[in-house]
Amino acid sequence: PSSLIVLFIISRLVSIIGQPMPWTNSLPHQLLTLEIADRLRLDSEETKLASRDFGKLVQAKPAAVFHPSSVDDIVNLIKFSYNCQVPFSIAARGRGHSIRGQAMAQNGVVVEMTSLKHNNSEGGFRVSQSSSLGFYADVAGGQFWIDVLIATLEHGLAPVSWTDYLYLTIGGTLSNAGISGQSFRYGPQINNVFEMDIITGKGELVTCSKQINSKLFYAVLGGLGQFGIITRARIALERAPNRVKWVRMLYHDFSAFTRDQEHLISINGLDYVEGSLIMHHSPPNNWRSSFFSPSDQMKINSMLTKHGVIYCLEVVKYYDDLTTGTVDEGLQLLLNGLSFPPNFVFKKDDSFVDFLNRVRSGELKLQAKGLWDIPHPWLNLFVPKSRIMDFNAGVFVDILYKQNKTMGPVLVYPMNRNKWDDRMSAVIPDEDIFYSIGLLLSSGDSDWAALEKQNQEILQFCEKVGINAKQYLPHYKTRKDWKNHFGAKWETFVERKAQFDPKMILSPGQRIFNYF
Ligand code: FAD
Repeated sequence: PSSLIVLFIISRLVSIIGQPMPWTNSLPHQLLTLEIADRLRLDSEETKLASRDFGKLVQAKPAAVFHPSSVDDIVNLIKFSYNCQVPFSIAARGRGHSIRGQAMAQNGVVVEMTSLKHNNSEGGFRVSQSSSLGFYADVAGGQFWIDVLIATLEHGLAPVSWTDYLYLTIGGTLSNAGISGQSFRYGPQINNVFEMDIITGKGELVTCSKQINSKLFYAVLGGLGQFGIITRARIALERAPNRVKWVRMLYHDFSAFTRDQEHLISINGLDYVEGSLIMHHSPPNNWRSSFFSPSDQMKINSMLTKHGVIYCLEVVKYYDDLTTGTVDEGLQLLLNGLSFPPNFVFKKDDSFVDFLNRVRSGELKLQAKGLWDIPHPWLNLFVPKSRIMDFNAGVFVDILYKQNKTMGPVLVYPMNRNKWDDRMSAVIPDEDIFYSIGLLLSSGDSDWAALEKQNQEILQFCEKVGINAKQYLPHYKTRKDWKNHFGAKWETFVERKAQFDPKMILSPGQRIFNYF
């Protein structure tokens, strides 16, 4: 933009006559003398966009937004900050689909990772095969998962571990974990990465894997953006099916529901297992997917009127041309012996892509009604299996159902701990099976505080009765809470920070090492 050019010329002139000229309050003016200066945007339109996220609960304005044209641009930006006497903070921003400012950088620089997503020479996208790894794709950190799906399907392949929603970036989900109904079988997305290119907080570009620079590799996976910026990830692929059998079963007995879920994740027949709550204020069809027909919904409503809260177990079996003749029989065998009431099983046949991309149509419908870009006070927890009955009684029934405040889907499904690698930074409960709970709430601009209060009540309940739940997509305000969250991993986390981002430049919006 012309304003930037003028600033650039002024700063050059001023540096020639020897008087420093601050061009924003928080960034050193020498930044303008670098070759990358024209990729920095200072205009309010850009900084405003980067000061918001999907949660719409907090705002933090950066001094500038950086649109890199190459990986080297990011290297140069971080190196420059690292070498400053007072470094400025830098946050990679995927799609900004965090809830509480995790991808923001107050007075610092936000790096728009999507700027590199279509740049093939910068690791945009490539499918390969090796005898040791099988099929894999090399993808840019700012690439959307939906684009990876579409591109890999052209080779008859697809990643194995997903999130429910695909318009998220590789770097963003790998910084957390990336979970969905496939996690019980394949582990989270962080468990299905072979190699990454990372730019550390010192501005060093490092290739890492389980074999080389493994400390950085494990640190970054689930590392909340604290140790480096992911510019390339090598993702595991398998042969893709073309269709799915998709089944939902309803329960009014939570103990039967969880028993069946736990059974299904202990056998290796299904490709996806999830579950959710249905209440009058959390209806069976929602933006996550529109599954039930109007007549199904009438049936469900009669069950709801009788029981108040019901639980929906959701499973999927993939199939293709070779297995089309046997898939129904195979699925029936897997579901035999489950204890949902007769007549409360609902089936659908869908394409693989439409199933994986199921949230998109709900998003577009809400966007059209102006109901997508609103506050989302989400709370995501991992709850140990041993306390899931207490969680149901204290949270689902006593808080969510009785207080009648919930607005939005509530997910509940189990995962196997042995599919997570403990060397990674991600934190999970210390039990073989734990439940992922997702309160995906939304509200009007003025009433999200009531839902935040409810979230606090849930966390306080867990603390009071000693449920050692771990937050997923965590958010804490004190060092003590972070220490408690990481538990035995805290010392390692701090040590890794000192090694890879000693000046604490990266992802300040997580508020873990907040010294800026
Ligand atoms: P951002 O929000 O932009 O960034 C998240 C964090 O990662 C920030 O700290 C940022 O600085 C850092 N970061 C971003 N890119 C990089 C990079 N390249 N290198 C290093 N650090 C980086 N999560 C699930 O696990 N399962 C789900 O099913 C799921 N469904 C969702 C559905 C919706 C509608 C939404 C809004 C979110 C959902 N999420 C889910 C949460 C999602 O995983 C997180 O929001 C995640 O942060 C990805 O979003 P993003 O790509 O926009 O990352």
